[in-house]
Amino acid sequence: MNYTKQIQEIAAKLFAEGKIDVFVGYRMNGFDDNQVPVLVNTADDVSKLVFTGKSVFNLVNYLKNEHTRRKRVGLVVKGCDSRSLNLMLTESQVKRENLYVIGIACEGVTDDSGQKMQNCVDCMVPDAVVFDEMLGTPAELQHATYKMNADIASLAAMSLTGRAAYFEEVFENCIRCNACRHSCPLCYCAKCCIDQETATLYNGANTTSAAFHALMTWSLHLAGRCVDCRNCEKACPSHLPLHLLHKQNESVIYENFQEHLAGVIPGDRGAFYKYSMKDPDDFIM
Ligand code: SF4
Ligand code: SF4
Ligand code: SF4
Ligand code: SF4
Repeated sequence: MNYTKQIQEIAAKLFAEGKIDVFVGYRMNGFDDNQVPVLVNTADDVSKLVFTGKSVFNLVNYLKNEHTRRKRVGLVVKGCDSRSLNLMLTESQVKRENLYVIGIACEGVTDDSGQKMQNCVDCMVPDAVVFDEMLGTPAELQHATYKMNADIASLAAMSLTGRAAYFEEVFENCIRCNACRHSCPLCYCAKCCIDQETATLYNGANTTSAAFHALMTWSLHLAGRCVDCRNCEKACPSHLPLHLLHKQNESVIYENFQEHLAGVIPGDRGAFYKYSMKDPDDFIM
């Protein structure tokens, strides 16, 4: 998967036609073969842009950035990224008319060791679902069959005490840096209730109990919205398996809320806005 040339050409054309003020893409990091996000402001800099199987980050996160908020923006989205864009559009966080979206029919991205990332192995929606033009050949697998994440299946097989002990260890290693929340495109609240500076509900201290409350609240705010892009995990300095929280929520919601999968359908407000006479109501008092 290499769309570097095409993306440079499209970005140059968009600047030349005066259609965008900024292009959000990827560039080489300058010291190994990994990439970082880049905001390109002029046609002179489009040669910095790259796109390969190392373009791992979800660039939609940069649409909540002050440098893009009131501008016309060009950006690249893979399948998972485009689902978060769909949600940001539905939740009125960005205006579609201000965006030029290059969608990718994604073949998966690799981690530092060159292995296909786990979310790509499990990917149910590889093709971008919102775009102005598409690069690659769509796999058209969207929403075909729900793939249960192997880690979630292993967790389900554990005893309750075993699972509690496992998560205690996970939460113990959280340093409350909030990088997970800041790197999530769907965490855009100006004042976040779990922020250490503004927290009234949560102890800002770096304790297992505070981390537990913060991360559980965060994962519940992403329930039915998380698109499994793993931006949060990539940002976590403690390398915590945050996907366990989100994938567990995703599988429960898929099963109980009419096979809901976040951000796949434009305008879909999410699982908690849906009602059907067939909904199981065994959890309602
Ligand atoms: S999760 Fe799917 S869309 Fe996202 S990078 Fe992996 S293969 Fe591509
Ligand atoms: S919680 Fe993590 S995986 Fe889910 S959408 Fe946010 S950054 Fe992506
Ligand atoms: S954790 Fe909740 S309150 Fe905080 S930014 Fe995310 S969605 Fe908003
Ligand atoms: S990024 Fe990792 S260490 Fe930082 S708050 Fe999130 S889970 Fe904790």
